Amino acid sequence: MASHDVLLDAELNEERYIDLLTKLIGESEHVQNNPPKFVPQEDKVIQHLLEALRPYSTENGGPLQVEHVTYVPGRGNLIIKYMSEGAKGIVSFVGSHLDVVPANPETWDRNPFKLVREDDKLYGRGTTDCLGHVALITELFIQLAEKKVQLNTNMVAIFIACEENSTIPDVGVDKLLKDGRLDELKGGPVYWVDSADSQPCVGTAAAIVWNLHAKGHLFHSGLPHNGINSFEFANEAVAYLQKRFYEDFPAHEKEDLYQFATPSTMKPTQVRIAEGSFNQLPPWTKIIGDIRLTPFYNVEDVMSKIKTYVDELNATDFAALPTRGPCSKYVVKSPEGEDIKGVLTLEFEGEPFKGIACDLESDGHHMLRNATKEVLGKAEPFSICGSLPLVGDLQEAGFDVQVCGYGHSSVYHGDNEYCSVSAMKNAIKIMSRVIHGFSSKYA
Ligand SMILES: [Zn+2]
Repeated sequence: MASHDVLLDAELNEERYIDLLTKLIGESEHVQNNPPKFVPQEDKVIQHLLEALRPYSTENGGPLQVEHVTYVPGRGNLIIKYMSEGAKGIVSFVGSHLDVVPANPETWDRNPFKLVREDDKLYGRGTTDCLGHVALITELFIQLAEKKVQLNTNMVAIFIACEENSTIPDVGVDKLLKDGRLDELKGGPVYWVDSADSQPCVGTAAAIVWNLHAKGHLFHSGLPHNGINSFEFANEAVAYLQKRFYEDFPAHEKEDLYQFATPSTMKPTQVRIAEGSFNQLPPWTKIIGDIRLTPFYNVEDVMSKIKTYVDELNATDFAALPTRGPCSKYVVKSPEGEDIKGVLTLEFEGEPFKGIACDLESDGHHMLRNATKEVLGKAEPFSICGSLPLVGDLQEAGFDVQVCGYGHSSVYHGDNEYCSVSAMKNAIKIMSRVIHGFSSKYA
């Protein structure tokens, strides 16, 4: 048994790390997540993890409890535990996921599904998000087992399936939570290892996807006074909704404290429109967009307010909407003299992700912050309007969720994704120091 002080001298076993990551990236093609085209087979990654962990697992007399938890065939999750007798509290690393976003080999300069090392950079789909972390945490637990580190706290790692697509429930961590498999993690911080840039990420945004359908009235473009141009209608309506949103949900004072890069935003990002000809007023237009909401505002409140804005527009015959030129209207008369009115319909798509403002006063935060400062020379927590699944729900359920990650946000979901060996070397030092901090606390 080694004293927990060995954790202060932790070094990445570079060869073993790259060897494992090479195997994982070699499977990345099979864990691309974009159903129905790509349904990941997370077990293909897990088989390499099981192989790496086997010599240290309880079945071979080692200290690591390794459990492969499967809800959907071929799509498992992996739980690793390093438990110590008489230990108090628990420190967990959760959120590193086994699936990746799709990669298009044609737009990469390298094969995305093969690990390629160039100096300090390790290229391949998943190196930053998130297989680089999966290999890192596996290496961390192997080191605990190899050195038989005497800890006064228990350690758990959970690698999850199906993180990159939230439309299919009950495959990954949402099901583990429902099954009570995460309950014991409440006894300490839950480090969600799926952000980037090596500094603590203390805030993320909620993500709400909306669509606005504008029903107009088809007519000859040469007789525009008789039709309702749904294209103009939808655009003016979205501009109006944005204006109301920014009045009701302006920059929040707490965003400075959390170093959010941007305040909350609402914007259109996609459009669908009726097939037709350029000399027809299009009868319908659908604009799709999202809202990124900093965690100081309430998701349900925003959704109900947006609905109200749309209801008001419909109820007032769109009096608040500007028109374009002398003939543009949202209510016209039929040949029989009856009103033909445009109709706006708002829908929200899927379950929104909740944002998170991490507890800045918890031991979980302080330990991570201190360890980061010791290793990198500075601690500069940041927040982003990116979104992570489940972290908001976990925090609401009473978990001390803290977010970190050691890849690079510049290549998140991008072409030529890479992570850096040097950043991963620092990462294992930071994580080892966090563990040391908690073990010392409970000594
Ligand atoms: Zn990720």
